[in-house]
Amino acid sequence: MDLNIKVNDKNHLDIGGADAVDIAEEFGTPTYVIDEARIRDNYNRFYSAFSKYYPDFKVFYACKANTNLAVMKILESEGCCIDAVSPGEVYTSKMIGFSGDRILFTGNNITNDELKFVHDQGAVLNIDSVSALKRLSKVVDPEGLKISFRVNPMVGAGHHDHCITGGVMSKFGIMDNEAVEVYEMAKELGFNPIGMHSHIGSGILDPEPFKLAIESTMDIAGKVHQEAGIDFEFVDFGGGVGVPYTPEENVVDLDKFAEVNVGLFKEKLEQYDMGNPTMYLEPGRFIVADACVLLVTVNSIKQSYRKFIGVDAGFHTLLRPAMYDSYHHIVDASKMDAPMTQEVDIAGNVCESGDLFARDRPMPDVEEGDVLGILNAGAYGFTMSSNYNSRPLAAEVLVTDGECNVVRERQTFEDLYAQQSIPPHLK
Ligand SMILES: *Cc1c(COP(=O)(O)O)cnc(C)c1O
Repeated sequence: MDLNIKVNDKNHLDIGGADAVDIAEEFGTPTYVIDEARIRDNYNRFYSAFSKYYPDFKVFYACKANTNLAVMKILESEGCCIDAVSPGEVYTSKMIGFSGDRILFTGNNITNDELKFVHDQGAVLNIDSVSALKRLSKVVDPEGLKISFRVNPMVGAGHHDHCITGGVMSKFGIMDNEAVEVYEMAKELGFNPIGMHSHIGSGILDPEPFKLAIESTMDIAGKVHQEAGIDFEFVDFGGGVGVPYTPEENVVDLDKFAEVNVGLFKEKLEQYDMGNPTMYLEPGRFIVADACVLLVTVNSIKQSYRKFIGVDAGFHTLLRPAMYDSYHHIVDASKMDAPMTQEVDIAGNVCESGDLFARDRPMPDVEEGDVLGILNAGAYGFTMSSNYNSRPLAAEVLVTDGECNVVRERQTFEDLYAQQSIPPHLK
């Protein structure tokens, strides 16, 4: 089993050297618990694997996976760059200390004001449509401004249809067959287009689908280089490197992944005589997913037509199971050594029958009061959470060498309506 699970001598789940049951007791549940060392380790393993084969390599962390300020600060200190997909992410990154040149902005369906804001923050704009290109040229001075384009490489991959971002059904990027024309248009407008970007999907565990993305993106880049005379400073192949969520899945063999894909990248650079542009990748999930556990408490066990283990969190806390039908491994953090004795449904506290974390899941003899750990909760966990059912957002705790720091307070009921007001005639 390749899941990131550690157990201490009390047979409790260990997170970064701290006892999960103690954390639940001290800070309450539901709480996202983040392991600082694991984030650093994931980043460094990723960076070394690729830079070993191609030193001109940069990691742009896709921060939509997890924008907790402490997580961003950890990655800033490692020298990582940021892939931002909204003005809010650009703003947060700047606030954390990332300089504009360390932020690549890949937005879609962006307003003129947003384009100008992102440009004024100094981030590099990765343009997704001809519309955005033309509008950008009107709201900023295009003369010599470095930009890149997101292309649709016509291949897609991912763990769910919603996560496939290439191909004819995708809303993302400019078409492969209009690329030359669009880069020429950018030059005519005065821009300095020096980058190309693609992102085919998410949750990819083997090198093969990724090779397709590299191949078709490089074929587009090669054509743009030769026909539009663009000298690329960088080519960015997006994110998508997966992590195992089930006990059956294996970790990505990063060295092989890098060797195969960098090999193809270099071949294509040579084929099209493109020199040595920097290679960018934008992992989100890979950096943060397995560095965080969502701790919840079992509050009721019900034997109905099925057996339901009821917990104090729901899809407002962690949306992935309900939204993507995603598997998250769940452990009883209070008794990690207990044998599996039953198959149960693990249900949340939202008033919707789709609010389940697991169906027919093998579990030990879970009791009311037990703390469960929902693993791999670091990516698209907190960032997709909501106040649905008027539930306050969960707390977040960072563990560093066994020391716990609250990095986000649990919301209060007052927070739920802090931004609302009742007009005078209703008072
Ligand atoms: C979401 C996203 C990523 C990260 O995807 P992961 O599967 O988390 O690695 C990278 N680039 C872009 C443009 C994205 O939208």
